[in-house]
Amino acid sequence: MNAERAARAQCRRRHQRQFFYKSASPRRCRVQRTDLTLECAPGAILGLSMSSCCCPEKPAESSAARCPQSGSIGKAVDRQTIKALLIELALRRLAAGEYRFCPDADCDVVYFDGNGSLFATQDLRVPVWQKLAFGTRPVCYCFGESEASIRAEIEASGQSDAVERIRGHIAAGRCACEVRNPRGACCLGDVTAAVNRVESALANRTATRAGANLGTADVH
Ligand SMILES: [Zn+2]
Repeated sequence: MNAERAARAQCRRRHQRQFFYKSASPRRCRVQRTDLTLECAPGAILGLSMSSCCCPEKPAESSAARCPQSGSIGKAVDRQTIKALLIELALRRLAAGEYRFCPDADCDVVYFDGNGSLFATQDLRVPVWQKLAFGTRPVCYCFGESEASIRAEIEASGQSDAVERIRGHIAAGRCACEVRNPRGACCLGDVTAAVNRVESALANRTATRAGANLGTADVH
């Protein structure tokens, strides 16, 4: 708990706001304690200084900018990230200003600037997991951890070590989220949340089956 408290404090100092939580659909529920996003916390959780995290330092947030399609508030994304991830035809229309990432699961826009320039999911070289349905989504763009691989690991061995594996890669300086992850930020928090989501889904499935079996037993 101390590590979590320290992470919250560090995030608060860095962004001048509360550590936040988000669900897959921000318009339905912006505050959901069960779906913790450790967006800025990986370094603190690891007991490392913030510069040990693989994310580049982000420019300070100016005014809140909303996606013109969904109205969701987008986080600023480094230009290098967008240039690395747009397909050739889309890159030809990249404008000069600052772009933001739309996190809304129900919106096809991935990047937008304040002047009407938009890039949608089909403009990127990789699938954007935030825009896909839960199940098999990729969550780590550097080392290929996905909901499918996490699920297979849990089914085979009872647990997933995806988070530990990624911590090891970060410590070894192998992470490249700034040019591989559409959000341009460290994926460790996303992977932590994904492991929790898959564990919950598997537990629910087991509970449902147990309930169904009990129901059958009651009949006989
Ligand atoms: Zn949007």
